Amino acid sequence: MGEEYDVIVVGSGFGGPVAAHKCASEGLDTLILEKSITPGDKVVSGLVIPFYGFLFAPPFIRDGNPPLQRPIRRVYNRFIKNGEIYATDSSLFLPPPLALTYSAYCVPMCIWLADRAVEAGAELRTATTAVDLIMENGMVKGVITDKGDEIRAKVLIDAAGTQDGLALKAGLRRKLPPEAIELYMCWDFGMTKEDVDSTFGNSVEFFCAMPDEKISAPLGFGSTLYIFTYRESIHPGLGQFLVTEGQIPHVAKLLEEYYENFITNVSRWRNDIAPKLTLRAKMFDVCPIYAGLDRKVREMPIHGDGMMIIGDAAAMESSAFGDGVPNAWFSGAIAGDVAVEAVRAGDSSASFLRRYDERVKSHGIISKSLSDTRRYDMRWALPGNDEREMRRRAHELFGLGVWRFRHITGQVLNEMKTTLARDVTVTGKWMKMFSRFNRNCETGYSDPLSTYGPAPQD
Ligand SMILES: Cc1cc2nc3c(=O)[nH]c(=O)nc-3n(C[C@H](O)[C@H](O)[C@H](O)COP(=O)(O)OP(=O)(O)OC[C@H]3O[C@@H](n4cnc5c(N)ncnc54)[C@H](O)[C@@H]3O)c2cc1C
Repeated sequence: MGEEYDVIVVGSGFGGPVAAHKCASEGLDTLILEKSITPGDKVVSGLVIPFYGFLFAPPFIRDGNPPLQRPIRRVYNRFIKNGEIYATDSSLFLPPPLALTYSAYCVPMCIWLADRAVEAGAELRTATTAVDLIMENGMVKGVITDKGDEIRAKVLIDAAGTQDGLALKAGLRRKLPPEAIELYMCWDFGMTKEDVDSTFGNSVEFFCAMPDEKISAPLGFGSTLYIFTYRESIHPGLGQFLVTEGQIPHVAKLLEEYYENFITNVSRWRNDIAPKLTLRAKMFDVCPIYAGLDRKVREMPIHGDGMMIIGDAAAMESSAFGDGVPNAWFSGAIAGDVAVEAVRAGDSSASFLRRYDERVKSHGIISKSLSDTRRYDMRWALPGNDEREMRRRAHELFGLGVWRFRHITGQVLNEMKTTLARDVTVTGKWMKMFSRFNRNCETGYSDPLSTYGPAPQD
């Protein structure tokens, strides 16, 4: 006899533990399977999580002490010509204790999330890959692991991220178009806290340039070279789409070439930043950032008989900012709620689980973030070498334009109104959160992390 649970969650990255936390808190027998030894180990090494992710994620995240690194309050858009900064747009800013976003390393962050799910009663099995599905009469009934175990469940939540194969096996989703997928090359550099403070403060930087400069966004198309800042380190990152206007570029070679140009030619890097760095790691990862802009992808199901798909596995990365964590949290929480309802109703058919699909599609922030074309449209400034147009578009994407109601801000305000209508005390909780996160980042404090091997510290 194999084992049996109410719910299996596949993946302990960002979304999986949130779904599992919901299910376990409601008393469901919940198992999380994670293929790596340590949660978060297969996720990009570090990222920034926007404030609205924390405001509207389940309260355990808002009210806890996650291992955050640095509150980011300002975005610098640097415009580069002949290696020099010829203009800077730093109009996107929030004063302390507020923050636009928080940087975090993924291993400690995902361990912290998994710890909360385990605390709520979920079981976490690391170093275990779900390699296949148990299917009966077209219905998902569980998974088969790489160890050959058959584990059954009433509901399967697929939180396996971009490398997910289970939804394909279930016949629910198809591979994403390569035009939507960006390969990223990222670096992890150690830098003293004093140097990060004096060189960047609480900011991140984006470097924009025309194609001739060959430094940011090989072949253009909206991405910039970014530098994320952490407590005692920085991450530059540079992306290139796998297919561009029908051409298949040699992506890895282009990224190397552009990065080399950047570090050799851009004086901000050479003079202000490079002398203070120690290289610790260089990594590649994929990011299906424009998947949400593709109608065919949007129309692929995110649920089936016995199964719901959340986060990156359901192509929910935000098209404007590439921030997939909020959507992984939001969809994870919705899937958790629906799993509880399904188990209680004794019905995990596709027609019952359709409510997951409906709630995700009516979630203002998820749907807006998937359909936002501002980053994609940066490309229209490039063919005519139109610098003014590039700056205008950057201002709209990562400048003051962010706050326009028609962008995601409108959805964030709507969500604030809805949340306030449910709980008038929430404003106080939000403000406490900002102050606590601020203090924690300054002192390096977080809730203690458990056990799945030592968490790499920055
Ligand atoms: C270069 C880059 C930069 C990014 N920057 C940002 C950013 O700044 N802000 C932001 O919000 N987002 C960012 N993202 C996106 C973000 O990392 C994802 O959107 C987020 O991690 C999605 O969460 P998830 O739970 O859906 O998947 P993941 O976090 O990827 O988790 C999936 C988990 O499933 C496990 N898994 C996979 N298959 C199996 C299996 N068969 N069995 C068991 N376990 C399995 C994996 O090991 C992994 O732990 C970035 C991504 C990249 C690549």
